[in-house]
Amino acid sequence: MALKSWVTSANDPSTDFPIQNLPYGVFTFAGQTHIGIAIGDQILDFHACASHGLLAELPKETVAACSAASLNALMALGPEAWSALRRKVTHLLLDSEPEQLRGRVRSSLVPMREAVMQLPAQIGNYTDFYASIHHATRVGKLFRPDNPLLPNYKYVPIGYHGRASSIVVSGSDVRRPSGQTKVTDQEPAFGPSRSLDYELEVGIFVGPGNPLGQSIPIAQAENHIFGLCLVNDWSARDMQAWEYQPLGPFLAKSFATTVSPWIIPMEALSPYRVASFNRPDGDPTPLGYLRCPDPDRGGIDLSLEVFMTSQQMRASATPAMRLSVGNLRDLYWSIDQLLTHHASNGCNLRPGDLLATGTISGPDEGSEGCMLEMKHRGKPICLPSGETRTFLEDGDEITFRACTSAKGLPRIGFGECKGRIVAALTA
Ligand code: CA
Repeated sequence: MALKSWVTSANDPSTDFPIQNLPYGVFTFAGQTHIGIAIGDQILDFHACASHGLLAELPKETVAACSAASLNALMALGPEAWSALRRKVTHLLLDSEPEQLRGRVRSSLVPMREAVMQLPAQIGNYTDFYASIHHATRVGKLFRPDNPLLPNYKYVPIGYHGRASSIVVSGSDVRRPSGQTKVTDQEPAFGPSRSLDYELEVGIFVGPGNPLGQSIPIAQAENHIFGLCLVNDWSARDMQAWEYQPLGPFLAKSFATTVSPWIIPMEALSPYRVASFNRPDGDPTPLGYLRCPDPDRGGIDLSLEVFMTSQQMRASATPAMRLSVGNLRDLYWSIDQLLTHHASNGCNLRPGDLLATGTISGPDEGSEGCMLEMKHRGKPICLPSGETRTFLEDGDEITFRACTSAKGLPRIGFGECKGRIVAALTA
């Protein structure tokens, strides 16, 4: 039978945060910034738990890490410490716990709606991959109709180094960037982007890192993953088209990246694992260092949705329109392969570093993870307000959601990754 919590909102079938999830985040409440976990519509404040002696049986370094104002120290401790903490927190929230214990736990709860979420970690480095073959093929076709997929794609998890300083937490406004663009047959010009897009991605927060000069074997990869979140890699397509050759994306991507505030632990996702991506016949087998030791559990069945509202839709209280649905299991490269490949040259990953999967798209219409890919439909997106879109206008708001479920288990959600476009600064 599935576990239940005495925090009744955690037992609501529609919640993202049942007791089986327990994602980590950083929040500000009453002027204090603390680490907590989400449970139903509440946050369990770890700093308060530590002050009330509720974590006393855990090692001192875990209690100290739980009292910090970012998750980096907890990320550095590794899977055994995370598991012990998770067991302890589960115990505190289980409905079988005696009433006298609940009093102290209850006084450590903060209503989620009254808290302001912060970035979960100090993100030292951010790397973005390109792990969806459906995305790579569809975008490749726009640029190279006869040769959409470059010859390295099925051998190398392709990525680029992104910008960590402009990562913002869900709910932050995103200012339309200005940059250099070139329209065919015209001279290059500088001005606000006219092709602003989103990219639906999953983020991987690094736990314990690896020393410089050493790699991470794929069998060990998950011991280095603290958890997953949602990422919106906002992209200015007109700037990208002009600048991307020969060194890849630069200012078209570095103006803003939004992350969801809750990090879902790998342990919570464990029951929802599925087989790795099934490479079609004729595709090369990954090189040895990228070969998944347990292909039956190499993927995660995570459904991902994109919703949009325009200013006009919100003014008339029109519900958000769903633009697409994708699934993490459709990625050509698994999250373990991305992490192992990143460290394979001896590059040191550090606690709190963020890796993102790249746009997650499926094979069919309706599963495109960005607006650029929807171009192949041959018609603009029609909003319920009667407006149309090829790319984002000022005032448009994009929200990602994700959830996973399995037979006999409650659904686990990721919360929201939301951002609204505001007008470019005028010169
Ligand atoms: Ca991307």
